[in-house]
Amino acid sequence: MRKGLLVLVSGPSGTGKGTVCNLLREKHPELAYSISATTRQPRPGEVDGVNYYFYDKAKFEAMIEAGELLEWANVYGNYYGTPKQAVLDRLEAGEDILLEIDTQGALNVMEAMPEGLYVFLLPPSLEELEKRLRGRGTETEESIARRLGAAKEEIGRAVKYRYVVVNDTVEKAEETIANIIAAEHNRTDLNEDLLKALK
Ligand code: ADP
Ligand code: 5GP
Repeated sequence: MRKGLLVLVSGPSGTGKGTVCNLLREKHPELAYSISATTRQPRPGEVDGVNYYFYDKAKFEAMIEAGELLEWANVYGNYYGTPKQAVLDRLEAGEDILLEIDTQGALNVMEAMPEGLYVFLLPPSLEELEKRLRGRGTETEESIARRLGAAKEEIGRAVKYRYVVVNDTVEKAEETIANIIAAEHNRTDLNEDLLKALK
């Protein structure tokens, strides 16, 4: 059996992580998805247990205390974190799992699980990033300014990732990530059972 692959997609807010990952999940239903926990309010249409687990601050802090999160970060004033057990269970079962998280949390996952596949999604330009953040219509002016202010520094951390993918069109970015995942499946460290069987 091939080992499961942890696939982490990160990048600045507004670059299109959610959009690209949704298409990836649609086209690859076999790719399990890690549902994050957050203390931010649900946006219209978001469903608890589907998009996020929406928890209050006390519950989130209790999860941190109990060591139940693989990583967590305070992103723009709200907590976000990855429930640990669900990720470990999937990998143990030989399934790939997709994490879509911010750049602070990503660095923590890299330290804990260096064998994962780390993809940094880049916007085509900073102007386009601003356009996308505004176009989404979910942020206040203050929130847009904060996210844009953080973007340059976040892009500076892209060198820590194995791959960078430009999100020019959603379809192209999705296809590139799918191709990277397919190639990574051939990694020797994920195929030890195959090698043993042929000894
Ligand atoms: P993130 O999850 O990185 O914060 P989103 O997926 O919410 O970003 O995308 C931000 C905005 O940009 C959304 O309005 C989305 O529809 C739009 N968007 C995403 N990818 C593209 C793209 N390749 N071209 C044009 N607009 C895009
Ligand atoms: P949003 O509020 O727009 O859904 O997400 C804000 C930021 O939090 C995004 O950059 C998103 O990728 C990130 N995020 C979502 N889930 C997690 C998580 O589990 N951990 C961390 N560290 N960041 C997350």
